Amino acid sequence: MADVIGEDGKVVVPTEVEDAIRTLIRWSGDEPEREGLIDTPKRVARAWREYCSGYASDPGVHLSRTFEEVGGYDSVVVLRDIPFQSHCEHHMAPITGTASIAYLPRDRVVGISKLARVLHGFAQRLQVQERLTAEVAQCIQDNLNPRGVAVVIEAQHGCMTGRGVKTHGVGMVTSRMLGCFLDDASTRKEVLALMGRG
Ligand SMILES: [Zn+2]
Repeated sequence: MADVIGEDGKVVVPTEVEDAIRTLIRWSGDEPEREGLIDTPKRVARAWREYCSGYASDPGVHLSRTFEEVGGYDSVVVLRDIPFQSHCEHHMAPITGTASIAYLPRDRVVGISKLARVLHGFAQRLQVQERLTAEVAQCIQDNLNPRGVAVVIEAQHGCMTGRGVKTHGVGMVTSRMLGCFLDDASTRKEVLALMGRG
């Protein structure tokens, strides 16, 4: 669905979207007509547009500009503990965590902030942590063709901490290793140490 921008510069929220959120408020046990909730459907709708802004573009575009002049650098590049937020596709509850992303360049590198952009591009969708981890790794593999990619994500799931078993402070860890990090145990050990997970 393409966004229409109103005169106030904000995204126009279709009536059916507002109605759906009103229905959810009523279902939750509150009155969508009361003063404090009057503008909530619009706010929620616009917030979700932002939470899911990753659908609007291919995260791989952030990796299209590369640098081949690396001054003989032939070691692992690591971006550690990048904070991110996503939403689980099962409950639409927040997933908050950090990701560490590494690759061993073959002949080109990207600006370091681009790795975080790839992460956010996939995180700003409805996700499961395992797929998010795999998608970030595969995107870097496909676009940079490095010798290897390693992605480790640790996150807390709102659907676990806020409902059901209510397990606070439990982090789920997922990892995806490709290329040399998958094939070679000592290289994998080295990258995990660089990520602070040795
Ligand atoms: Zn969930």
